[in-house]
Amino acid sequence: MMSRIPDCTIIGGGLIGMLTARELLLAGLSVQVLERGEIGRESSWAGGGILSPLYPWRYPDPVSELAQASQRLYPALLEAVQAEGGGDAQWTQSGLLMPGCGEVAAAHEWAARYGVTYECLSADEMARCAPEMGTLAVESGIFLPEVAQVRNPRLAQALRASLLALGAEIRPGCEVMSIEHARDRLSGLRLASGEHLACKQLVVAGGAWSGELLRPLGLDLPVEPVRGQMLLYRTAPGTVQRILLYKDRYVIPRRDGHVLVGSTLERVGFNKQTTETARVDLEAAATEIVPALANFPVEMHWAGLRPGSPDGTPFIGKHPYISGIYINSGHYRNGVVLGPASAQLLAGQLLGQPALIPLTAYDPAKYVKM
Ligand SMILES: Cc1cc2nc3c(=O)[nH]c(=O)nc-3n(C[C@H](O)[C@H](O)[C@H](O)COP(=O)(O)OP(=O)(O)OC[C@H]3O[C@@H](n4cnc5c(N)ncnc54)[C@H](O)[C@@H]3O)c2cc1C
Repeated sequence: MMSRIPDCTIIGGGLIGMLTARELLLAGLSVQVLERGEIGRESSWAGGGILSPLYPWRYPDPVSELAQASQRLYPALLEAVQAEGGGDAQWTQSGLLMPGCGEVAAAHEWAARYGVTYECLSADEMARCAPEMGTLAVESGIFLPEVAQVRNPRLAQALRASLLALGAEIRPGCEVMSIEHARDRLSGLRLASGEHLACKQLVVAGGAWSGELLRPLGLDLPVEPVRGQMLLYRTAPGTVQRILLYKDRYVIPRRDGHVLVGSTLERVGFNKQTTETARVDLEAAATEIVPALANFPVEMHWAGLRPGSPDGTPFIGKHPYISGIYINSGHYRNGVVLGPASAQLLAGQLLGQPALIPLTAYDPAKYVKM
């Protein structure tokens, strides 16, 4: 355990907390990560690991900016994390095929703006691109060949190892009950154990729980839990080759033959139960998109709580009037893809560096409670 007060304390050992911790460690700060449960076992574990928003042109520019920046950062980040002792997160450029998506004008305009390669495919071309796909009643689709994926639970494990190698203190099983301040300055944390923990600077990266942590501090941040359920099939490797997105359901192939099918969007509070209705719905979608999945067993069914924000733009920045408190949260459906750039953006602010992109869209300040 660190004997002196670390330069920065982070609440939340999900991908956002860990990626932020890594940036700060690389800048020479001492960092402590406090996690209520196990490291990387909440939304960051439950997610699909697609390194692109779904139908990315539907998102506002601040989301696209972070997604594009993160996509560029990922290969080198994963290489560095592996060199620091983390394992292989299996970055794989599967491509994202969206059969039946006719939003060609919007896709074209977005792709041109961000320099993204996209293709409009006919039914025959789609069948060649993804032979595993069923005969959906669609005439065309949009393909983003450069979209990659990672195995997000492996990424979390790898980041944990990297943080330890870089000298972080990681405290699992450590729940923060409240953030304390003396007037306009952070003073410390009250833990569930009753301990008062002094801290110099704090990053709140508590995922879906961030809103609850910040509300007593005069910030009404609209971060709410949005449940997502997923199924995991065990298939023969190569059964599915592409990430396939049809309407609001998707199929993600892992290298070892596992196939994820997701996901629901449910506003049911902090409830992580799975439901039979969702299982039936996801199974039907799975076999409609890839009929061969009917031949393989469902190995797991789980639910996770996304840190929902109104339009998917995360909150990245400092508390408007209590100095020493920073926020990196609300990444909703895209925390894996937005994570690396979000972490750089937050670390830059904490370190007092000039911003590389305008920060206003991510600023939590407009949610001060009146
Ligand atoms: C079904 C599903 C599919 C998804 N698919 C994708 C995808 O394909 N691509 C993509 O980019 N994103 C995807 N996401 C979204 C992505 O997983 C999240 O946006 C991201 O993981 C959020 O990371 P986080 O670190 O903010 O939250 P979390 O991973 O939830 O981490 C927050 C951590 O903070 C801890 N914590 C909270 N309160 C306290 C406290 N008081 N004291 C101590 N610790 C605390 C929690 O225990 C938790 O471990 C998906 C999510 C789900 C649920």
